[in-house]
Amino acid sequence: MQGPIGVGSGAAVRGWDPGLGSLIMRTHMQIPLVDLKAQYSAIRPDIDRAIQRVLDGTSFILGSEVEEFERAFARHVDAREAVGVGSGTSALHLALLACDVGPGAEVITTAHTFIATAAAISHVGARPVFVDIDPRTYTIDPQQVEEAITPATRALLPVHLYGQPADMSAIAEIARRHDLRLIEDAAQAHGAEWDGRRCGSIGDLACFSFYPGKNLGACGDAGAVTGNDASLLDKVRRLRNHGAVSKYQHDERGFGERLDAFQAAVLGVKLVHLEAWTRARQAHAKSYDELLADCDVVTPYVSPRVRHVYHLYAIRTRRRDALLAELTQRGIQARVHYPVPLHRQPVYRHMGYDRLSRPVTERVADEILSLPLYPELTQEQIAYVSRAVNEGRRLVRRHQNSV
Ligand SMILES: *Cc1c(COP(=O)(O)O)cnc(C)c1O
Repeated sequence: MQGPIGVGSGAAVRGWDPGLGSLIMRTHMQIPLVDLKAQYSAIRPDIDRAIQRVLDGTSFILGSEVEEFERAFARHVDAREAVGVGSGTSALHLALLACDVGPGAEVITTAHTFIATAAAISHVGARPVFVDIDPRTYTIDPQQVEEAITPATRALLPVHLYGQPADMSAIAEIARRHDLRLIEDAAQAHGAEWDGRRCGSIGDLACFSFYPGKNLGACGDAGAVTGNDASLLDKVRRLRNHGAVSKYQHDERGFGERLDAFQAAVLGVKLVHLEAWTRARQAHAKSYDELLADCDVVTPYVSPRVRHVYHLYAIRTRRRDALLAELTQRGIQARVHYPVPLHRQPVYRHMGYDRLSRPVTERVADEILSLPLYPELTQEQIAYVSRAVNEGRRLVRRHQNSV
């Protein structure tokens, strides 16, 4: 006997013996995709104090809490400025407007992303043009971006998916050559880097989400636009606040899409921990990589030019749905990001996109699966999930052979 199997020791499970399986599996665990309770418990006094401070100060919209967070976040992404807004979706919406993208314009993006990326483009009256993704990184394929450019193209909107930056050298070069705006969807890429440059400081503007489950998450909806172009950022600042240049002076049409002080105060507390959390995510991803090395699933490919911040740890496997069912049965919350490519979504059917073929995107949507990943995850939990994936794949294969 080898002591407490699979409990508190990564080494005990690395070369694990299938004969011990039934014994190990008796330790049934519940492992969520993301554990916000664990995060809150770790920093509870600081969060509670920050919220109390806002209550006492009674300055709830914009104000010094928001300004302070904007400065800290701009430093974190190495950008000139950050503008706090109501959500990641607002960030995309306002960034597109600031770049003068409107009716009649085309914006090139990917169909393998959250709906908000494309919805923001539609919202300003422009047309999302979906090109296919790179089969290894799942981010937009620069070559296809180039081929999709028409006289109506105004902007490129790459998504740094799962925490891995898109190929920003190639994409920025295309944008320069064709005189297009470049907007980063960095909603999943807080602290990620391309060639040593932080996402959020590479494009004309970049859009962040602080949705609670993101790498930096608020206690509600929140987002930010970052960049280095002062006049574009000023425009976003006006647009988020009813187009006001000063109180009750409105020179242009704007929106009520401001960041509030509670969210800014919470985000300020969490930002201090973001680097440590990111390093924990990276370490957990490395453990998964090792524990899944002999299993016939595709683990994340990481380009040598990036700093990947692992918003999600997404594996790929055929018969994904069977594996997902098996993991669910074992108390593991795995999820599909994203099951329906955007060109196949009913909301875009009227635009004829259902006749579009984007083979890599469609295949990845059928095979991708995100495993639990958050900074507070333990080695024991990672081992349990990895073992379940290894066993699940074997069960799925056996089932395949018998039908
Ligand atoms: C979360 C997310 C958004 C939207 O952000 P919200 O804050 O939820 O509005 C946009 N794009 C991507 C890729 C996202 O993951």
